[in-house]
Amino acid sequence: MKYFFFIFFSFLNFYCCIAQQQYSIHDLKSGKFKEDSSYIYDLPFENKKKVFLIQGYDSKMSHKGEYALDFKVKKKTKICAARDGVVVGARGDSNNGGLKPENLSDGNYVSIRHYDGSVAHYWHFIKNGALVNVGDTIIKGQVIGLSGNTGYSAFPHLHFEVVGYDDKGNYRQLATRFNTNKGIVYLRPAHFYRAKH
Ligand SMILES: [Zn+2]
Repeated sequence: MKYFFFIFFSFLNFYCCIAQQQYSIHDLKSGKFKEDSSYIYDLPFENKKKVFLIQGYDSKMSHKGEYALDFKVKKKTKICAARDGVVVGARGDSNNGGLKPENLSDGNYVSIRHYDGSVAHYWHFIKNGALVNVGDTIIKGQVIGLSGNTGYSAFPHLHFEVVGYDDKGNYRQLATRFNTNKGIVYLRPAHFYRAKH
């Protein structure tokens, strides 16, 4: 089974590399590529909230080969929807977090499906910190939860990722751009950003 997953994820990584060819992750980070019609997300925090991005896309820590973002935030920071949609998953009953394998299934989260079929996942909410329910219609900027440290997590933070179909029809994690105080950008790790709604 272990080998199956290894092969599966190796394949997935390989496949992602092919799909990425059009714009390399370096191009995304450097803002090099200009012709971008992708959706512009809000940062998933209250307007003007300043946050620090710990891990960006394809980070060398726990996001190797992943298009996912980790924001360092204090516990109980209000997490807002980065885009309109409908809640398709929510959990708030866990009080456990850490870096043991079993912690992978301990995370509280909210998942929101957007109108183009993509889904945003917001992870690691505090116990009882998922403030919306499956089926709820969500408006961009609406508070959906309170941050925490549940699940596979060493310290309070928000893990944010969007999955959907890329322009080649592959279902995968997608790099997303955000409206910030620094303009409309693909976020870079070890940088501060201020939400701009
Ligand atoms: Zn993460």
